Amino acid sequence: MAIELFSIGTELVLGQIQDTNAHWIAQQILQIGGELRRVTMLRDNREEMSAALDSAIERETSLILTTGGLGPTPDDMTVEVVASLIGMKPVVSEETVAEYRKRREMPENDVVSEALMKMATVPETAIVLQNPAGWAPCVSVAHKSSTIMMLPGPPREMKAVFKTHIQPLIAERYRAEITTARVHVNMFEAEVSPLMQKVMERYPDVYLKAYVSLRNADGDTMPVDLVSTSTDKADAETQLELATYYFRELVVEAGKRFSLNDEQ
Ligand code: ATP
Repeated sequence: MAIELFSIGTELVLGQIQDTNAHWIAQQILQIGGELRRVTMLRDNREEMSAALDSAIERETSLILTTGGLGPTPDDMTVEVVASLIGMKPVVSEETVAEYRKRREMPENDVVSEALMKMATVPETAIVLQNPAGWAPCVSVAHKSSTIMMLPGPPREMKAVFKTHIQPLIAERYRAEITTARVHVNMFEAEVSPLMQKVMERYPDVYLKAYVSLRNADGDTMPVDLVSTSTDKADAETQLELATYYFRELVVEAGKRFSLNDEQ
């Protein structure tokens, strides 16, 4: 059920453009209830892109999303890299060319530009999802246990594609059940961290995060959130309960105070 996101573009890695796509997509996935496991920023470099995407496939990531690198210029190579990674020939999507002709109201024998032909070129087994806000379509391919969906980089186009094609898909197929709890401990971060680590080792589907900046005024209690993720709601709740219980045990053993949010 895990989802990973790759933001592709040298300008992002160099800090010339802020990766707002990743922030927006992460928020959307959380709202839908999907499990975003990792976000990676990549340069427009064939080998680096290929190696990073290959490792996501090897991690058996269910849904791999990419943004960027779908345009007509030579540094736009996402589709080409994915095609070669999964061993598929790039072919022209006639459906996309027909869409371009329709949108541009082109007569039958007018030649479609090279730039548009490049954006209509996809791996041979791909499903092409048209872009409601631009020319480069979203390209989806299945490989091993992963589905790779390539989205355009420009934020307006990415959002339109995400809302139209990705959001409903995540809601239907990749939704995880997430249950959370907030507890308070009268410990410093350095003291509580090893205990949190122990909880996460025993319950790997529960993530713990301490909020140092939210320590109360006298610095006495600090909130710690527990986030439990599973495909099944009852299982998410059970894991959360067990992890909370174990965490309480460790804190009390250390001679410190532990309280659930509603005991505050
Ligand atoms: P294009 O047809 O414009 O080339 P593309 O899908 O190839 O589209 P990129 O070339 O990677 O996308 O990016 C186009 C523009 O979109 C970038 O110059 C940048 O302004 C913006 N952009 C790309 N990726 C991101 C991102 N992750 N966050 C914010 N803006 C982005």
